[in-house]
Amino acid sequence: MGGIGQLKGKIDTFAPPKNRKMKGNRTFTMIKPDAVADNNIGNILAMINNAGFRIVAMKYTRLSQDLAGKFYAVHKERPFFGELRDYMSSGPIVAAVLEKDNAVEEFRTLIGATNPADAAEGTIRKLYAKSIGENAVHGSDSDENAAIEANFFFSEFERF
Ligand code: UDP
Ligand code: MG
Repeated sequence: MGGIGQLKGKIDTFAPPKNRKMKGNRTFTMIKPDAVADNNIGNILAMINNAGFRIVAMKYTRLSQDLAGKFYAVHKERPFFGELRDYMSSGPIVAAVLEKDNAVEEFRTLIGATNPADAAEGTIRKLYAKSIGENAVHGSDSDENAAIEANFFFSEFERF
C-alpha cells in the first residue's frame, strides 16, 4: 500500500485558484469519526473560526479502510496502525483546508497534544477527545504534509 505522498501529477489543490491570493498559510484538518458521532462538528468549526482560521475547502465524507490506511501510511509499522485504520473508517468525517498566518503551527496549538490527558486547557482535544486514539481532530504536522493531505481530499473545483 503506497502512501499519499505518491499521488503526484495532479493540479495542486492546496494552493488557491489563480484569481485569489492566499492570505497567510494553509493547513489541513479532519474532524474525526468520534467527534462527528458526538455531534461536535459545529462546536469544533466554531472554535476554528473563532481562532481566526478561514475555511477554504470543506467536505463531509467517509474513508474506506484502504484510504484510511493510505492517509496514515507513515504510521504503518506502529502497533496502533490497525486500530487507527478501523477507527478512521468507522464513520463519516469532515475534511477541510484552513488559512491563517503560520497555519500549521497555530492549528497544532489550537488542537492540543495527541493524548487528551496531556492536552492544554481550552484546546479542541482537551474539550472533545475521548482517548489518544479517538482524539476528535487531525492537524497536519508540516507545510509539506498539509499540501499532500489537502491534495488527497480535494479537487481543483473544491477549494477557494
Ligand atoms: N494514535 C493512536 N495511538 C497512539 C498514537 C497515535 O491511536 O499511541 C492515533 C491518533 O488518532 C493520532 C493518530 O494516530 O491522532 C496519528 O498519530 P500522530 O502521532 O501523528 O498524532 P497527531 O499528529 O494526530 O497528534
Ligand atoms: Mg500526526
